[in-house]
Amino acid sequence: MRLGVRIVAQVRNRRQALQGLAAGGLAAAWPRTGRAAADLSALRIDAARLRADLEGLSVYGRPAGGTFADGVSRVAYSDADVAGRAYVMGLLREAGGTPRIDAAGNIRVRREGTVAGLKPIMIGSHIDSVPGGGNFDGDVGSLSALEVLRTLNAAKAPLRHPLELAIWSNEEGGTIGSGWAAGVLGKDALEGMGPTGVRRADGLRKIGGDPDRLADAVIPKGSLAAYIELHIEQSGLLEKAGVPIGVVDGIVAIDEYEVEIKGFANHAGTTPMPDRRNALLAAAKLIEAVQEEVTREPGRQVGTVGHLEVSPNARNVVPGLVRHTIELRDLDAPKLKAIAQRIQARAAAIAAETKTEITIRSADMDPPAIATPRLQKHIEAAAAGLGLKTMHLPSGAGHDAAMLADVADMAMIFVPSVAGISHSPHELTHWEDCANGANVLLQTVLRIDAE
Ligand SMILES: [Zn+2]
Repeated sequence: MRLGVRIVAQVRNRRQALQGLAAGGLAAAWPRTGRAAADLSALRIDAARLRADLEGLSVYGRPAGGTFADGVSRVAYSDADVAGRAYVMGLLREAGGTPRIDAAGNIRVRREGTVAGLKPIMIGSHIDSVPGGGNFDGDVGSLSALEVLRTLNAAKAPLRHPLELAIWSNEEGGTIGSGWAAGVLGKDALEGMGPTGVRRADGLRKIGGDPDRLADAVIPKGSLAAYIELHIEQSGLLEKAGVPIGVVDGIVAIDEYEVEIKGFANHAGTTPMPDRRNALLAAAKLIEAVQEEVTREPGRQVGTVGHLEVSPNARNVVPGLVRHTIELRDLDAPKLKAIAQRIQARAAAIAAETKTEITIRSADMDPPAIATPRLQKHIEAAAAGLGLKTMHLPSGAGHDAAMLADVADMAMIFVPSVAGISHSPHELTHWEDCANGANVLLQTVLRIDAE
């Protein structure tokens, strides 16, 4: 089967070469087989240039009078977003690319491969930020993808596969651009609001997308050879372990619940303690139960009660009604279901104990996006070739890669976040780690290309 595929590819390549279509005639000068990766294994990105690009991009959305250390607010569809996108498109053109904006507002560049019929290898990330964000979330992956393109072009190194770059639009608003490209989101998402408070349809027009032709942006399932995204870790595991490269096992499932606790609102001075039906007391016990059930077994699962509404929320009234959320995250969705069941059992006991009624309703379940082992091995080998230690870890944050996992084999490379801080002006990844990540991305692409 594999052999058959290779023969077809070579025949097509020969035909293409005969027709004079091979990229700049370079195909003949470079090996087209697995040897290509070895031959280009000494190729490195330019770390100083990557840093200069990151510093250059940081200007767009920087607080007035601020410096790089003050972070950015380059929120999707804002003027700063438009300006930052124009800056990056300029860099892509200088790198020899021809950027286009697809209907979903994603910036896309394609570099042709030398073997006809091979599916593209796609790399990319995003450059929009949260309000008051940092200069590394999304930017490192996006500008490293640019740096990979530039390095390959400068070396006149042909890839067998086409290489596609994508700078996804509106990631921080809920992986919107990549969600449309993966066909996970539909037209109804156009009516939602973007982070700047504009309708997504209007925001999309502002950045050069076309809400009437969203379907044109869809990447058909199975049409990519791989999707690889480099990103900052946004957690502190790599730094703590002293490991420069993270091999992401997947992007965690998010299991969300809404809880309603009905007690009875009554006078805080005249209602004896044994007679109270205190909904907030029940909530407090349930919050502790969430903590206990999530930590009852080993693993990296997390559980959070982050939103709470108390009624009547008055200092002299026994709380009669509480609504709160429960959010559980892990790569292992069945494990989350088992934890949720245990929490449900604890809730029943707490309701009996506090004379309240507790209802737990499932609100949403985002399935996990599991990385492809074959691609993870390429990342490990690429890092080993660069003398860099690796460590496997999950991603607790959502990423464009989770959307792409719906249509393609996917893997992610993480680089350390100092003190695990992200979505903050204090977000920091050392320049050396950024460069290491970009080099691992480059060498991973070369290894996939040689498959
Ligand atoms: Zn991000």
